Amino acid sequence: MTDWYEQAITYGVEQGWIDRPGSRNRLNGLEEVHKRMPKEMQAALPPIIIFSPGLAVGGVKLRREILFGYTFVYLSPTLEKEHCINAIWAVAHELAHLVLGHGHYRLRNQAEVAADENAASDLADTWVQKQNPGNSLFGRLLNKGEEALKLELEKMQNPEL
Ligand SMILES: [Zn+2]
Repeated sequence: MTDWYEQAITYGVEQGWIDRPGSRNRLNGLEEVHKRMPKEMQAALPPIIIFSPGLAVGGVKLRREILFGYTFVYLSPTLEKEHCINAIWAVAHELAHLVLGHGHYRLRNQAEVAADENAASDLADTWVQKQNPGNSLFGRLLNKGEEALKLELEKMQNPEL
């Protein structure tokens, strides 16, 4: 079986989940995390669909089959505006959620959400160092206690935000 990285990039580009020219930082982040995450953790990852739309995309409608058993990871186009190292860290944070088994949907209270976010951030820190965390857009989203996806979705629905 090919590893998660090769599979996710190949499948993502072929199926249109990944906008390759518009995803430079995010693709670089995936490559770096692939290099730095311990191999035994990588081996335990589920197959992944990475959704990495281009910056110019305000909203998008895709008709695609979601393969059964795959985990869906959304990487925000705002990561293209990050310092390179912080974009790598953001990708590491998202993949750390998968390593920690957070991929399955479950109802969580505020404290549980915060605990999951801290655990993912701590694990990501062991792979990648942040740069000027205060200037990281992604870091600010986390500090506000908001999931990046939720904010992005709200922005798509309320363009004036
Ligand atoms: Zn998170």
